[in-house]
Parts: sequence; C-alpha cells; structure tokens
Amino acid sequence: MSVETIDTLIIGAGQAGLAMSEHLTKDGVPHIVLERARIAERWRSVRWDSLVANGPAWHDRFPGMGFDEVDPAIRPDDFAPKEVVADYMEAYARKFRMPVRTGVEVRRLERLQGRAGFRTETSAGVIEAQRIVAATGPFQKPVIPPVIPRDAGVTQIHSADYRNPAQLPDGGVLIVGAGSSGVQIADELRHAGRRVWLSVGPHDRPPRAYRGRDFCWWLGVLGQWDLSAPAPGTEHVTIAVSGAHGGETIDFRRLAQEGMILLGRTETWRNGRLGFAGDLVANLDNGDANHDRLLDQADDYVARNGLDLPPDPQARRRYPDADCITNPIRELDLAQAGISTVIWATGFAVDYSWMKLDAFDASGRPVHQRGVSTEPGVYFLGLPWQSRRGSSFIWGVWHDARHIAEQIGIQRKYLDYHHQNAPQTEPA
Ligand SMILES: Cc1cc2nc3c(=O)[nH]c(=O)nc-3n(C[C@H](O)[C@H](O)[C@H](O)COP(=O)(O)OP(=O)(O)OC[C@H]3O[C@@H](n4cnc5c(N)ncnc54)[C@H](O)[C@@H]3O)c2cc1C
Repeated sequence: MSVETIDTLIIGAGQAGLAMSEHLTKDGVPHIVLERARIAERWRSVRWDSLVANGPAWHDRFPGMGFDEVDPAIRPDDFAPKEVVADYMEAYARKFRMPVRTGVEVRRLERLQGRAGFRTETSAGVIEAQRIVAATGPFQKPVIPPVIPRDAGVTQIHSADYRNPAQLPDGGVLIVGAGSSGVQIADELRHAGRRVWLSVGPHDRPPRAYRGRDFCWWLGVLGQWDLSAPAPGTEHVTIAVSGAHGGETIDFRRLAQEGMILLGRTETWRNGRLGFAGDLVANLDNGDANHDRLLDQADDYVARNGLDLPPDPQARRRYPDADCITNPIRELDLAQAGISTVIWATGFAVDYSWMKLDAFDASGRPVHQRGVSTEPGVYFLGLPWQSRRGSSFIWGVWHDARHIAEQIGIQRKYLDYHHQNAPQTEPA
C-alpha cells in the first residue's frame, strides 16, 4: 500500500484547522488539513437551528476577511447566523486556497519507530507526517452527568442534539445548565410557549453592551480576552451571553419575571423527584456582581481615557425577585410538574483516544504549553484557555495558530541545519 508523506498534518477543519492552514501557507510549510465531515461541520450540524454568533460580526471573525464578503446583508454589529458562520469558514478556506480534504477521518495516530514523524491511519489510507496539529475542537464529546436514570420516563437530550422546539415532545422542559447554550435554548422554548425550568449554576454574565459598546469591545480594551489563566477556582465558570434577538443582556431575574422558573444546581434523583442545591440565590448574586464589575471597570476606563460614550444608567437596573428566587424550589417531581423533557446543557469533554501518544494527563487532557505538546512534533489548537481567555473563539484561535506556526518554523530550521550539515554516512 502506498504511503503519502507530508511535512505537517492538521486534523480538523473547523476554525482552528483553517487558521493553522492559513499561517502554514503564508510560511510555505507543506501541509494537508483532514476533516472527517465538512468544513465547520459543528456550526452546520451540531448546533441548534436558530443559533447566531455570540459576538458581533466585526469581532468574531478572522483578520483576513469580513462576513460581508459572504453575505452582504451582514453589518458589522450584526450577529451572524450559524449557517453564515459555516459559509464564512468555507469561503475562507477557498480564499486562501487551503489544502483541505473533507470526508476523511483520522482513526489512529502513532509515532514512527526508529525515525522521526508520525503514522496516521485515515479512512482514505495512511499518511506519514513530520508534525501533527490536532485541531479537533474544544467541545468534542457531549457530557451528561449520571443523575436521572435512562428509564425514568422522561426524554433526555444533550444541548448538542437540540435543534428547535418542535423536535421535543409536548410538555414542560427542564434545562440543566445556564451558560450561553442553556439560557438561549431555555429562552427559545419559553418564546415557543413551553413551560420552562432552568437549573442555574455559577456563571459570569457580562452586559451585552454598555455605553454603546458591545462587551466584546470592553473585554478587549480592558485586556480581559488576553488573561492567561482563569481566576483561581473559576475555571469552570460558564459565561452566559447571547446574540439572539439582535443581542440582549442575559438577566436571570428578568427571565424569572417573564415566567421562567429558576432552580439551583441539579444534584440528586430519588423516586421521580429531582433535588436541587440551595445555591440559586448565591449563583444569581455572583453573576450580578460579575455583571456590575464590568460596568464599573468600563466607567473607570471611560473616565481615565476621557471617552465620549453616553452614560447608560438602565444597565444597572435590577428586576424584582420572582417567587422562584425568594422561595427556591429544592425538589421537583418531574411527572407532577408536567416536565416531559430534560435538556442537559452541561458541556463537553475532549476525546483524543485516536492519538496513541504520551501527550495526555491522567484525565485525558493534553499536556502542553500554549499548544506545544510535551510530545515533540505534536501541537494542539483550539483548546479552551490554550494561551488566553479568547483561545477557543474564532478570532482568538487565529493568534494561537500564529504562535504554533512560529514554533513549527523554529523546529524546521533546526532540522534544515541538521540536514545541511549531516555526516556523509547519514542518508539526507
Ligand atoms: C453553541 C456554541 C456556540 C458558539 N458560538 C461561538 C461564537 O459565537 N463565536 C466564537 O468565536 N465561538 C463560538 N463558540 C466556540 C467555538 O468557536 C466553537 O466551538 C468552534 O466550533 C470551535 O472550533 P474548532 O475549530 O476549535 O473546533 P470544531 O469546530 O469542533 O472543529 C473540529 C473539527 O474536527 C473534525 N474532527 C474531529 N475529529 C476528527 C478526526 N478524528 N478526523 C478528522 N476530523 C476530525 C470535526 O468534524 C470538526 O469539524 C461556540 C461554541 C458552541 C458550542
């Protein structure tokens, strides 16, 4: 069987794989991008129908192209629908003539024995590469905590499998997890006339916009996208933000006023009854404090820099507490409450089981420094907090890809020197 060889093999053609390819193309590094499905497949088929980008089009993009090149109707402050995001990625790959091969799955990867490089078994044959960039995504395997038994008589799906309200059986819906996915799905279901319960854990909830600037702009000028590590103990704090309805601040107290029933963290299951932690009020208070802190930092920035941005006192409005906040529900009989569906918006895990390499910690997560693996020749891209807070976002991954490309360039230089100065006996 013939074996194809290449300098660098990128696995995955989401935003991370494409950003990597752009930089390697600029640097003249021969490479191939393998994608088991289509370019930006997760935007196409693993997200709900009405999803729009969480950041405005001027911000959530690569430097090399605007969204208006794909859809002239998209203005800079719009939130691009998910299909437009996927079209944008495809157009980007075309614009930079990226060597993407779709419909090719990487099934196994291992180090070559006795010589440099890696052997990759794919659905289309074997490829040997000197270097590997794993760009298979920060959100690979949906995680459903084992709380409610499968045979409990209630439909249970992960947010990755939610598409639209019509897909669900009639009846009330409990959404577990109030990050950007959970709260948007809950809001959509409530607008569709469903009775909705939302289990709210610890979260950050930045204002959508303040004093005429989107929070993406504020986090940028305040240097917060570039934070290199989460605050101690807050790594798993989810961020509740939405571009739906043209972009609105997520305010759980408002949602409760509008009829959504808020609950604390989902914890236990006994005889059809779901138990919730007594942390709802603390979680809402901490979310509010996070919201208000950003307003304070923004005001401070405006004052220090003498910016002419209009005051926005409405942003500090606090909605009165609904009954579910003053009298938190600690137990709920799902059947009695009429809840037919539970949607777990509880996040994802990574799955690198196809990489037979010594590059992972005991929990299966890559061991790396800014994406450079402890296993020489292996790089990861698109990991949450890979180098900074913005690493898993469209624009953030582009900067991480530039760093990885630099690192690849450095290693190639050392090898060039070696080959140019190789002893006569060693094959070139
Ligand atoms: C609901 C949701 C909304 C989001 N909204 C935004 C947003 O508005 N703005 C923003 O900047 N970010 C957003 N993100 C975060 C992030 O941008 C996305 O998760 C994005 O898809 C990550 O891109 P990626 O290239 O790192 O990974 P992915 O998009 O997951 O791409 C990885 C690719 O690798 C392929 N692959 C995996 N394994 C193999 C294999 N063995 N062989 C071959 N191919 C393989 C997959 O098919 C996939 O196409 C959102 C995330 C979620 C979950």
